[in-house]
Amino acid sequence: MANTQYPESYYAASANAVPPRPALQDDVETDVCVIGAGYTGLSSALFLLENGFRVTVLEAAKVGFGASGRNGGQIVNSYSRDIDVIERTVGPKQAQLLGQMAFEGGRIIRERVAKYNIQCDLKDGGVFAALSAKQMGHLESQKRLWERFGHTQLELLDQRRIREVVGCDQYVGGMLDMSGGHIHPLNLALGEATAVESLGGTIYEQSPAVRIERGANPVVHTPLGKVRAKFIIVAGNAYLGNLVPELAAKSMPCGTQVITTEPLGDELAKALLPQDYCVEDCNYLLDYYRLTGDKRLIFGGGVVYGARDPANIEAIIRPKMLKAFPQLKDVKIDYAWTGNFLLTLSRLPQVGRLGDNIYYSQGCSGHGVTYTHLAGKVLAEALRGQAERFDAFADLPHYPFPGGQLLRTPFAALGAWYYGLRDKFGM
Ligand SMILES: Cc1cc2nc3c(=O)[nH]c(=O)nc-3n(C[C@H](O)[C@H](O)[C@H](O)COP(=O)(O)OP(=O)(O)OC[C@H]3O[C@@H](n4cnc5c(N)ncnc54)[C@H](O)[C@@H]3O)c2cc1C
Repeated sequence: MANTQYPESYYAASANAVPPRPALQDDVETDVCVIGAGYTGLSSALFLLENGFRVTVLEAAKVGFGASGRNGGQIVNSYSRDIDVIERTVGPKQAQLLGQMAFEGGRIIRERVAKYNIQCDLKDGGVFAALSAKQMGHLESQKRLWERFGHTQLELLDQRRIREVVGCDQYVGGMLDMSGGHIHPLNLALGEATAVESLGGTIYEQSPAVRIERGANPVVHTPLGKVRAKFIIVAGNAYLGNLVPELAAKSMPCGTQVITTEPLGDELAKALLPQDYCVEDCNYLLDYYRLTGDKRLIFGGGVVYGARDPANIEAIIRPKMLKAFPQLKDVKIDYAWTGNFLLTLSRLPQVGRLGDNIYYSQGCSGHGVTYTHLAGKVLAEALRGQAERFDAFADLPHYPFPGGQLLRTPFAALGAWYYGLRDKFGM
């Protein structure tokens, strides 16, 4: 049987020690079978266990093997689409609910970290950095919009203020969200998995769900065992493959890459990010970066449509890092890796039910650290019979990518190329 390990990332190299978890080799019975031990699966499992459900989690590889253990670690609130666009698509009532929930994921992470004493280098403060007056104008209008939904903690930064929080002179201004921040993402997932087990949940690793027998009493099959459950939650996101064909048609796995420098030392680290906030710029194909607990710079950017692994990640990402911080030209890159997120055409999460007892949430299209934590809560509410917030997501319309399975990758890349050009020329 396959024994799939973590990629050689900074996170795997600095992961907190956890005992190995067995593969499923039996027939077991539970209330909820969760497929996938990323944030969506673990957050769902935790909320369900806290509400008295029995939960079994199946993970194809290891806890946090997917995007949750590889991401930039940025706690970015809200969705991958602006709330005014959402409002125009779904109308004011549904947008109101979605808007109210948009900053909840960051709170859930902090509650989890505090309640279960998770050691994951949590830091407060996230900056959206504007590269042009047009992007700054957009941030100003977004701030006004968020205030309309009750989120008043955002602070605009002029050119002088942003220079105080980011040691880079390419920005004209920005917006600070102190309810954003950053974490060691794999250690957050590992801590959440330990919390799941502390509440009596079971996690099997190296146990891919290979078939779902649907019906009134669904059964999830793995290579060596099966789980009979009242409910199934599908949380495999970009790594799910074709297990649930209905979901694959309206989403597309995409790769994005991250590099990590050698430790920079206190002085250089402070010169780059004096307040230790995380930063993402406002481009469509955005760059994002932050410091780690041991003062390295983690820098990510770019998208590979269709999730092919690039041969030389450092060659793609290092020039972006040097554009922002030329002073790092002699600094060594210790780690470079890739991970997959799941893109939908609308860039909004794909949430819903198949029949009465199979639930899913996936496809948050880039910004998922906070949304996935909220998703776990909303899924658990729905399983308890309170589906108003779940339905606000489930009612979002989704469409197949133009070009179908065969041509969706070049079509999406073409779209991104167009938006990349607009970013480049400030259009
Ligand atoms: C490189 C990178 C950087 C990113 N940076 C950020 C960031 O800084 N901030 C932010 O907000 N978002 C970021 N994201 C997005 C964010 O990480 C994801 O949206 C989020 O982690 C998705 O969580 P998930 O649990 O839905 O999926 P995943 O974390 O991918 O978890 C899915 C899990 O399901 C398992 N699985 C799949 N199929 C099966 C099966 N058949 N049986 C059993 N298990 C299965 C997989 O092995 C995997 O462990 C980034 C993503 C990437 C890839």
